[in-house]
Amino acid sequence: MRCPHCLIDFHDRQTWWSVVLGGDTEGQWVITRRTCPACNRFVLGLENGTSRGPITQGQQNAELNVLRSIQVWPKGVARAPVPPEVPPGIIEDYKEACLVLSDSPKASAALSRRCLQNLLRQAAGVKPGDLSGEIQQIWIVANCRKTLPTILTRFGILGISLLIQTRARVLAT
Ligand SMILES: [Zn+2]
Repeated sequence: MRCPHCLIDFHDRQTWWSVVLGGDTEGQWVITRRTCPACNRFVLGLENGTSRGPITQGQQNAELNVLRSIQVWPKGVARAPVPPEVPPGIIEDYKEACLVLSDSPKASAALSRRCLQNLLRQAAGVKPGDLSGEIQQIWIVANCRKTLPTILTRFGILGISLLIQTRARVLAT
């Protein structure tokens, strides 16, 4: 897994630990803890599913056939700082998109999309349309000038990477 604190990949089973909370009508519930070997910080989760064998409340290191996995800590994923020239309204949307990513990938995707569209319209002067048309406009401008506006090269990468992550999570649900 990729550590949500430091963004370094690690083998999550290496430092995995869990404790069984018990079962309800939705199956068994387990709290999980993984420790990133790079930054030595916890990644805490809540998993729901069916047990692979007999388990009891309070049992440690019980594995489930996981149906649902919720990242409890940290809330969201670490990001590079936003460049200071990005307008405050866009920063607000961007931070909120990062914050809700683990709870609602679809909400994060909607905010990321709005963030990118506002950036294209406000910073690059793109005429409003659908997102793919707006991106096409900026590519045409970039091809003519042989460069992208600085704000897009500095912040657009963050926005696009967030969009890719939210899309991947939406597809996984
Ligand atoms: Zn880490």
